[in-house]
Order: sequence, then structure tokens, then C-alpha cells
Amino acid sequence: MDKKAMYKLSYGLFVVTARVGDKDNGCITNTVQQVTTTPNVISVAVNKQNLTHDMIVRSGKFNVSVISQEADFELFRRFGFQSGRDVDKFSGCNYAWRLPNGIMYCAKGTNAFICAEVKSSLDLGTHTLFLAEVTDMEVLDKAPSATYEYYQAHIKPRPEAVGRTPEGKTVWRCRICGYEYVGEELPEDFICPICKHPASDFEKVTQ
Ligand code: FE
Repeated sequence: MDKKAMYKLSYGLFVVTARVGDKDNGCITNTVQQVTTTPNVISVAVNKQNLTHDMIVRSGKFNVSVISQEADFELFRRFGFQSGRDVDKFSGCNYAWRLPNGIMYCAKGTNAFICAEVKSSLDLGTHTLFLAEVTDMEVLDKAPSATYEYYQAHIKPRPEAVGRTPEGKTVWRCRICGYEYVGEELPEDFICPICKHPASDFEKVTQ
């Protein structure tokens, strides 16, 4: 069985945003898709470790900003590689605006927004799958949507080519965000502290 077969699945990339009280937050996902047209229902699976997950559970609604090929890495760093528990992800963000449903969306590096209200959810262990009816949507830009593959090839910064640390230790690099772990063996249960992906998404860095 070749686990890389999973990489052949095509995914879009999205900023999923929510609001509870005065708190705005958002996270990057690759799991939004339309599941029915009548009614117009989308699904999104959100990792329970994300603050946005809890905010969707509490508020029952969220916005999706569809990431385009015009997006730069700052968008991913802002919404993907830090936690809303530690920072206000919208602080200093000059391209996010509030929609009539009270929730922010991103207007740069995106080509559409979709507003949705949760109708049901399914507990998947690490994630919750939300099924939500679309309440509003607009096209923002003609730029093509960014696939996960496009992100890997064109948006993610090129890692520096180092095989080992100066002390001769092995380096493992997260394929998703570039985080580097130093050690001869990467623990099987290791979780990337930045993007929360598992050890299977790490590769040994070779020169
Ligand atoms: Fe990572």
C-alpha cells in the first residue's frame, strides 16, 4: 500500500472564519466542498484543536474564503501557522472585512466567499465534519483557485537545503509548513507544533 496515493486527491484551500462574542478567528483548511445543490450544502472538516472549531460549534455559522493562486505565504502564516488562542489573527490585517452575518472574510489572495449555517455535524474523532447550508456568496476575483498541490509547488517557501545540523544530527521537515525537528528518529506519535499534522507528513531531510 502506497500512502502517497492520498496525495493524488485534489484539494482546494480555504480560510474558514468564525466569530463568538467579540472574538474573530479563522484557520486554513483543505476540506471544504459542496455536497448537495438543492439545498446548497457544503461540508467542512475542522480539527478539534483549532479554536475556530469550537467557535463554529458555539455559533453555528462560518464563512469560507476560497484561496486563489494570487495568495502569498503571509496569508498561510497568519491563519495557518499560529493559534487564535495566542494571538488576534486579524491584528494588522488590512484585507479582511466583516460580512452582514457578522463574520470576517479575506479579500486578498482569494477569489470568492461563501457564508454558511451549520445544519448538522458528525464527530470524526480528531475532527468534526460540519454540514452547512449556504446563506450568501460572491465571486471576488478571476484568479484560479489554489489547490493544495499549487501551494506546495508555488506558495510554500523553498526550504533551505540542509541535510544535518552542524552537530551532525538528522533533520526531519514537515512537508506542510516546513517546521524542522532535530533527532535521529522522529517519534511515531509526533504532531507538528505549527500546523498539527502527524509524523507521516514529515520527511527526512537529505542533501
Ligand atoms: Fe507542520
